[in-house]
Amino acid sequence: MSADQKSKINLVVNSEGKPYWEGAAKGQLLIRTCNACGKAHHYPRTICPHCFSEDTAFVEASGNGAIYSYSVTRQAKPPYVIAYVTLDEGVTMLTNIVDCEIDRIRIGQKVRVKFSEAGDGYALPVFTSA
Ligand SMILES: [Zn+2]
Repeated sequence: MSADQKSKINLVVNSEGKPYWEGAAKGQLLIRTCNACGKAHHYPRTICPHCFSEDTAFVEASGNGAIYSYSVTRQAKPPYVIAYVTLDEGVTMLTNIVDCEIDRIRIGQKVRVKFSEAGDGYALPVFTSA
């Protein structure tokens, strides 16, 4: 696999998620928050999954969170880590843990967002040690 193939992914961007991906391309982690019940949710949806209000908006997350769970794919060259990270805002997202010693990763570890180029002007939010 060449470096180009490795870094390019095929994102399907719908109208609900478009601001999320545009934010990520600019280095902003956006999450959708409900103005009716005050709760955040992820992935981004126009209708709040907690109270079904349509009064939702994107807000910029702190970018700080903690590892809820993770898995190491050691068969890959190089190995990589997928994880659920719970943001300080309370939402949990599926992501990758990067730039860390794999054997030192722990559940509950504090992490911080960074952005990985994904091709076509997009970027993926990934996390590294805080
Ligand atoms: Zn709500």
